[in-house]
Amino acid sequence: RAKANGGNRYHFYNHHLDREAVERIELRNALYQALRNQEFELHYQPQVSVSEARIVGVEALIRWHRPGKGMVSPACFIPLAEECGLINEIGSWVLESACVQLKTWQQAGMDLRVAVNLSAAQLDDPGFYDLLKDCLQRHDLQPHQLELELTESILMRHVDQSVELLNRLDKLGVHLSIDDFGTGYSSLSYLKRFPLDTLKIDQSFVRDLCIDQDDAVICRTIISMANNLNLTVTAEGVEQADQLNKLAEFGCDLYQGYLFSRPLPAGEITRLYLEYRPAEAGRYAI
Ligand code: C2E
Ligand code: MG
Ligand code: MG
Ligand code: MG
Repeated sequence: RAKANGGNRYHFYNHHLDREAVERIELRNALYQALRNQEFELHYQPQVSVSEARIVGVEALIRWHRPGKGMVSPACFIPLAEECGLINEIGSWVLESACVQLKTWQQAGMDLRVAVNLSAAQLDDPGFYDLLKDCLQRHDLQPHQLELELTESILMRHVDQSVELLNRLDKLGVHLSIDDFGTGYSSLSYLKRFPLDTLKIDQSFVRDLCIDQDDAVICRTIISMANNLNLTVTAEGVEQADQLNKLAEFGCDLYQGYLFSRPLPAGEITRLYLEYRPAEAGRYAI
């Protein structure tokens, strides 16, 4: 009897694993179709000046509307896309779409920078530099209007190779930022070798900024280091006014977070931008 139970249990467990494996394969197949079926969309989250409450840029964040399943989080499908070799294609789509949108905003008189997240495989693609340059040229955009977000771990894989590519990108004029700063393992001496414009403080340090003394010290230290190195510093994941007040006190340049806005479809960014343009406020007042 015990044996039979054991057998059943084994059977049940096995069945469970099968189902997980099947779901994974389904997800993967669905991902292959997603580009062709135009199931991706970019949302944009404002990057706001701490001192003036003005939108200076937006970060493009991909969304996948999977038919019949609702919205799938990028935290879930980006790693899968990296695993199954789809990330370069998806990454090119992101870059292209962000540039089209940036041009549209520019033509509407909006002075914005658009930041795009990169995966390791995009950096490793020997055609990446040309692809990016071509994309900017086709859309008649200035390189400084585009920002590339890279994580420490991406850059630290092959430091010399990364330094070389980043130097070329910097020469071209695109802005370069380190995403999730503080969570990777980059040493400051290596960091100094990259031609960076911005450090983005990871949201895990911002979350408890007002209740955890250690997190406050970390934020203050990153901000003062960035200021001293002439880097722009952006805080991620700002949800509360008292977090923003502390960041202002520490001298943080920009912030992103639900306090100001969640990531939004492009059209809503246009509306927000006009609303938060202090110098021209009168002109756009309804
Ligand atoms: P990330 O680049 O660090 O983006 C910030 C994430 O924090 C976004 O999650 C954003 O929606 C979320 N966030 C913003 N403000 C707040 C806040 O106040 N509180 C909290 N709790 N969260 C906030 P999202 O959009 O789910 O993206 C997750 C990650 O997926 C991104 O982290 C990025 O690493 C990756 N990702 C998104 N789009 C792309 C893409 O186009 N290409 C690549 N390679 N990765 C992408
Ligand atoms: Mg990012
Ligand atoms: Mg530069
Ligand atoms: Mg981040």
